[in-house]
Amino acid sequence: MVKIGILGLGTVGTGTVQILLDPVGRHHLLQSVEIRRVGVRSIDKPRAVDLPSELVTTDLDAIVCDPEIEIVVEVMGGIEPARSLILKAIEHGKHIVTANKALIAKFGDEIFTAANQAGVYVMLEAAVGGGIPVIQPLKQSLGVNRIGRVTGIINGTTNYILTRMTVEGGEFADILADAQKLGYAEADPTADIDGLDAGDKIAILASLAFGGRIKRDDVYCEGIRKIGAVDIAYADKLNFVIKLLAIAERVEGGAVSVRVHPTFVPRDRPLATVNGVYNAILVEGDPLGEVMLFGPGAGAGATASAVVSDILAIVGVRQCHISREEAIESPHNALHPLLSCNHTEYSQMAPLSSLRSSFYVRFLCLDVPGVIGKLGTSFGEHHVSIESIVQTGFQGDRAEIVVVTHDVSEADFDSALAEIGSLEAIDSIPSIIRVL
Ligand code: NAP
Repeated sequence: MVKIGILGLGTVGTGTVQILLDPVGRHHLLQSVEIRRVGVRSIDKPRAVDLPSELVTTDLDAIVCDPEIEIVVEVMGGIEPARSLILKAIEHGKHIVTANKALIAKFGDEIFTAANQAGVYVMLEAAVGGGIPVIQPLKQSLGVNRIGRVTGIINGTTNYILTRMTVEGGEFADILADAQKLGYAEADPTADIDGLDAGDKIAILASLAFGGRIKRDDVYCEGIRKIGAVDIAYADKLNFVIKLLAIAERVEGGAVSVRVHPTFVPRDRPLATVNGVYNAILVEGDPLGEVMLFGPGAGAGATASAVVSDILAIVGVRQCHISREEAIESPHNALHPLLSCNHTEYSQMAPLSSLRSSFYVRFLCLDVPGVIGKLGTSFGEHHVSIESIVQTGFQGDRAEIVVVTHDVSEADFDSALAEIGSLEAIDSIPSIIRVL
């Protein structure tokens, strides 16, 4: 039997225990896994799973130091004490399974370095895309491809809000409030709606896709707070939908660009059809072409499916008899190369200003003659070529003008916009959204 300790018995911890206590009809290796301890904060809280009371403890330190435990499953969330407990568990020679994207995105370098030195695995399938298998496919099944780009809808809350804004035509703030009432958004929704959660996840995917570490601070994150019903309506008229995309791509010269921002997605692209709380990850590689992984990005059962698959992978590899001593001696050779994360160099990051993108911009202007001409001149002087420019109507006494550009340099676009913003005729620029 392989004994495991679980840190956390909330949504994901409960789902994990439920699978482990009910192994019949699932993979036969599950029957060699035994839950030795489960750590929680409040011992008296009613639980949805029936565990013998002596298994549940508030002493999480005792779990990570327990000599009987081989695998520590961290499903408590947050940075501390999760980080310290994981490092201590690694120090005591435990393999780690975690669902904690925020922790891995910010402290992955420290954790993976410690794990490689100790000859143990850190597995994180549940950290991105909930139940969707994407981490192991990137490491294994897709690993022979030269990956050019990974594009994800990897935050269920924002996709739910944008989908409802598209279907119902409502405003962001009203739909966010309703999503909070229905449990689709947290009381403090910042991490989701400002793109930070998606930023954590795409940093992890980028690191796997391109084989280099990513500093979380280098990931550009722009959320959906500024998207208005009027932008959704324009997108619809132009045959697009607005999605919060997380994009990791290799750009000219070999550097990597990793970013999260709202994006106009053409209605006929597969990602445009991903609605509600669902997640999808589109991987583009050579020679495979495009593969889209789609499924439930959160929830107890879905996320636990990913957690338990990681436990099984370690149990399976452990049966290959690789000793920790061999692994410490030579982690690249001894640790199972398809499970471990061995890259130690940082990726060279491409600044946003070096990218080329197409933009949708909405201006509110004074209703005076010649504004469209001035916009055209300013864009032209900064080498920004325009695909369409339309005056669509009025918001109060302000004329509304919508511009869609061709693919242009982000730096040129920014300087054009800085000049346009200072024109007397321009009242404000409420929306700037990239077009896929
Ligand atoms: P949760 O429902 O809030 O559960 C957290 C659990 O950890 C609770 O059992 C809590 O104990 C325990 N805990 C938290 N802090 C603790 C502390 N300081 N000491 C002892 N116990 C502590 O969280 P969750 O939704 O299951 O999420 C867990 C992790 O999975 C997070 O990293 C999250 O990002 C990730 N994840 C979640 C989902 C999802 O659908 N929920 C999907 C993908 C990834 P008590 O029960 O006693 O309060």
